[in-house]
Amino acid sequence: MNRRRLYHIIVLLAGLLLCLPLYGQEKDRPKNGEGIYRFLRRHNREAYYKEFMELNKGKFDKNNNLLLHHDYLIPPLKETADSVGTAKPVAPKEETTAPAITPSTTQTGKKGHEPLFGSELAEYEIVSSDLKGATFYIVSGHGGPDPGAIGKMGSHVLHEDEYAYDIALRLARNLMMQGAKVHILIQDVKDGIRNDRILPVSDRETCMGETIPLKQFARLSQRCDKINALHKQEKPAYSRAVFLHIDSRSIHKRIDVFFYHSRTEASKQLAQTMRKTFVEKYRKHQPARGFTGTVEERSLYVINQTIPVTLFVELGNLQNSYDQQRFVLDNNRQALANWMCEGLIMDYKNNKQ
Ligand SMILES: [Zn+2]
Repeated sequence: MNRRRLYHIIVLLAGLLLCLPLYGQEKDRPKNGEGIYRFLRRHNREAYYKEFMELNKGKFDKNNNLLLHHDYLIPPLKETADSVGTAKPVAPKEETTAPAITPSTTQTGKKGHEPLFGSELAEYEIVSSDLKGATFYIVSGHGGPDPGAIGKMGSHVLHEDEYAYDIALRLARNLMMQGAKVHILIQDVKDGIRNDRILPVSDRETCMGETIPLKQFARLSQRCDKINALHKQEKPAYSRAVFLHIDSRSIHKRIDVFFYHSRTEASKQLAQTMRKTFVEKYRKHQPARGFTGTVEERSLYVINQTIPVTLFVELGNLQNSYDQQRFVLDNNRQALANWMCEGLIMDYKNNKQ
C-alpha cells in the first residue's frame, strides 16, 4: 500500500506548495532604523500608507513604529483596468519607484539626484547594490518633433512619445535606485515623472541636449551614435540598451508587452528573461489573465546599429481602450517600469559571474 499512498501524499503536498505563492502576500521585515515611510518607499508603496496600516494592524508599537524582526505584509499594487477585461479592479498591479539620469547626476552616499525626474522625485535613494557595475541606456521612442503613434481616448489624444518617456523615466529611476548607472537618452527638461492620466504632448525632448531631427534616419542614428559614443568612452563591463515604444494597431487589437532582440545570444536571452518576468508577474497579480507577449528577432535600425546588447520593447497598442489603461494610469506605468527593472536585474545576475 504504502508506496503508492506515500506517492499520492507527496504529489498532493507538492501541489499545495506550488499553489501557495499565488495566494501568498508579499512580506518583508524592516531594516534597522527603518520607519514606515522608508519601508514603504523601499517597496515602492509610498502611496499605500493607509492600506499598510490596515493590513498590519496590531503589529506596531504604541507610537505606531515598526517592530524589528516582525514580518509586515506589503499592500498589493492596485489593479488596473488593463487587467482581465472581465472583472473590475481587483488584481494588484505591480510596484512603484523612481529612476535615474546622466551627466548631472550626483551620488552622495546612499542618495542620488536627477533633475529630469521632476522636483518631487529628483532625489532618490539607492536602496540596493543589485545593479552596481551595470550600465543602462534607456531610450524612449520618438520625441522632439516626432510624437510617434497617436491614440484616441474619448476626446483625448494620446501621444506615444510622452507615455514612453514617462515609463522610461520611471524605469531609469528604478535602475538607479538599485545602484545602476543610467544614461537617459531622450530628455525633456520640463516633464518629470508625471502622475496624470493625460500627458500633454510637447516637442521639447532632446537627445541628451541635442535637437532631435525630424527625418527618421537622422533621428534614429543620432540616438544610436550617442549610445555608441558613451559606450566607447566608458567601456562598461555589462551594459544594455533598452528602447521603449508603444505600438499602434487597430483599435480592436489588444496586445501584451512584447520584445524584439537582435541576432546576438545575449540580446535574445535578455528578451526571454524579460518575457519570463512578465509572465510571472501577471500570474501572480492577475492569475486569471494570462500573458501572450512574445519574443522575436527583428532587424530594426536601432537594434542593428547599437553596439551594446539591445532590447526593444513594445508596451501595448495605444489605440485599444484596454491597452490604454496600461498607459493612462500612473500606477500601471510604474508597474511596467518595475517589472522591466526586475527583468534587468535578473539578466544582470545571469550574466555577472
Ligand atoms: Zn514607436
